[in-house]
Amino acid sequence: MSSKIILTGDRPTGRLHIGHYVGSLRRRVEIQESGDYKQMFVFIADAQALTDNVDNPEKVRQNVVEVALDYLSIGLDPSKVTMFIQSQIPELTELTFYFLDLVSVARLQRNPTVKTELAMRGFGSSIPVGFFTYPISQAADITAFKATTIPVGEDQSPMIEQAVEIVRRFNHIYGDTLVEPKILLPDNAACLRLPGTDGKAKMSKSLNNCIYLSETEKELKQKVMSMYTDPLHVHVEDPGHLEGNTVFTYLDAFCRQEHFAEFWPDYGCLQDVKDHYQRGGLGDMKVKKFLLNILNAELAPIRARRKEYEQDIAGVYDMLKAGCEAARAVAAETLDEVRRAMKINYFDDAALIEEQSKRFAAQ
Ligand code: ATP
Ligand code: MG
Repeated sequence: MSSKIILTGDRPTGRLHIGHYVGSLRRRVEIQESGDYKQMFVFIADAQALTDNVDNPEKVRQNVVEVALDYLSIGLDPSKVTMFIQSQIPELTELTFYFLDLVSVARLQRNPTVKTELAMRGFGSSIPVGFFTYPISQAADITAFKATTIPVGEDQSPMIEQAVEIVRRFNHIYGDTLVEPKILLPDNAACLRLPGTDGKAKMSKSLNNCIYLSETEKELKQKVMSMYTDPLHVHVEDPGHLEGNTVFTYLDAFCRQEHFAEFWPDYGCLQDVKDHYQRGGLGDMKVKKFLLNILNAELAPIRARRKEYEQDIAGVYDMLKAGCEAARAVAAETLDEVRRAMKINYFDDAALIEEQSKRFAAQ
């Protein structure tokens, strides 16, 4: 049997989008279907979402169920995957507190993802300590479950590096206890960091440049048709450029061979479309229509499954509650080992009490 323990999470700051899908969600379903894992955990990082939404707990609360619905609608199966809510596992907070001693402020300041995210949120000099230290809390999420494999987008690689450093430091000081995780990036370059529809930065809930998995057909059409392409491609005959052209990036991420027979038999493969576009004579609208057909085909079953699960919200919460209980039992075992390694397991250490009793009696 595989010894892989898979773990990933998402912040409940909005519904999930196609960036999440190609960066991580699609891979999670593949792993689930392959059966090549020992345990698989997927969690909703509500405590992390609160680090930069402290004034907006209602937003986080409302989005927990949205993310759970997205998980179920892409095909994650609660009988194969433990889905849980981060805040319901107090062991994670405890482990974070111990890990805080293993990382310097300077090390956190060097984290490129933290740097970008701080700039994006415009905290200025009022950075919440909890937000600043979230890579450490993420290391706790990973290690509490002894996760070996983390299927995430490229923005997460500094976080996994940080987690590996913490594991090494912990094991060096306290003895072999924790497991070093490995990142599992998408193999398709376009999926590493899918840009937003504005073509500016990565698609992100916080930037309002998303195509959501639960988008209606009408919304999807409107978003695809107004997507950023090539500003130099003014007339159909003009040669078009592919670099930074979001429509082509999305095609790289979603287009499969069978889509041509189905939606655009004039072309044999994506390279033919790209060549024609670069030569000139192929209009943006045609390419966008092709992309729209592809996205619709991918999202229609997800949309339909979501509608079904939306009819049983109480059932979704029951599933999450059972997931929290199962996850907590696993984290509690790791924390027992951590406390033992850190020598803070006073009450279950009979040898310590006996040794001290003798020593004090002899004085
Ligand atoms: P927020 O703005 O609240 O941070 P987000 O859209 O960045 O939201 P996260 O919840 O931070 O989403 O990310 C969840 C997972 O999805 C991570 O594994 C991350 O790597 C992946 N991911 C997020 N955005 C993208 C993207 N544009 N391309 C590829 N992967 C992504
Ligand atoms: Mg993010």
